[in-house]
Amino acid sequence: MLDALEAGLVAAEDDPHLVAIGRGALPNSEGVIELDASVMVGSDLTAGSVCALQGILPAITVARWVMERTPHVMIAGQQAKRFAEQHGLKEQCLDTAESRARFAEYLERPEVKEKYVHTAHDTVTVLGNQDGKVTAASSTSGLGFKVPGRVGDSPIVGSGIYADDEAGCAGATGWGEQLWRACASYRTVRGMASGMSAQEACDETVRYMLRRLPGSREMACAVMAIARDGNFGAAVTQGTFPYWSWTGGEPQMHECSALEA
Ligand code: ASP
Repeated sequence: MLDALEAGLVAAEDDPHLVAIGRGALPNSEGVIELDASVMVGSDLTAGSVCALQGILPAITVARWVMERTPHVMIAGQQAKRFAEQHGLKEQCLDTAESRARFAEYLERPEVKEKYVHTAHDTVTVLGNQDGKVTAASSTSGLGFKVPGRVGDSPIVGSGIYADDEAGCAGATGWGEQLWRACASYRTVRGMASGMSAQEACDETVRYMLRRLPGSREMACAVMAIARDGNFGAAVTQGTFPYWSWTGGEPQMHECSALEA
């Protein structure tokens, strides 16, 4: 399962057309692409993550190496890059002509910053459940034109992802500061541990955010989850949130709509 989730994220990070993760992603306010990624395995609660990683792909593989090759959970910034190089990855340019053009537009028209910060962000979060063994992983370049060094929820265990075979796994995407404050993924897994279905637990987390963090109505914050027995769901604070499931055969697309507090 871990290999499958990693392979999916490696492919997504390498796709230059996917602007919110990996190659060609939205840069920070100085034009540099900074990546965050994380992985967690529910059988033993092991986890690994990297944040503010520059010039290295795939970030998810580096996060997995942190989990498997060190006694730590997270390595940050320049030291994460050095760690990746020590383990065999080479520095590369992650910019594309399109990502450079988006940054040029940002420099010329500062009002674009507002537009991007509120609309251009995204994350690929993947959850897996194989016979009750759950795994969660996530990769992102975070908010477009963020302050250099800014880290969102995605690489934070408990916020961007969480996995525990006793209950299930959860992941988040959207406005990282709000999701982090809510410990959104851990909260959702705790909901399932207390007997809720995955959908009920996602709804509960989103309602909590709408109640306690009203700012989360301004930019979509989504959580999704798979319970130990395989039932799954998702919920969002604003707009609609599309997500895909695969239980064999063709992948299925689903969509959930914003909840009321
Ligand atoms: N959660 C990510 C972050 O705040 C961005 C996103 O998922 O859209 O870094």
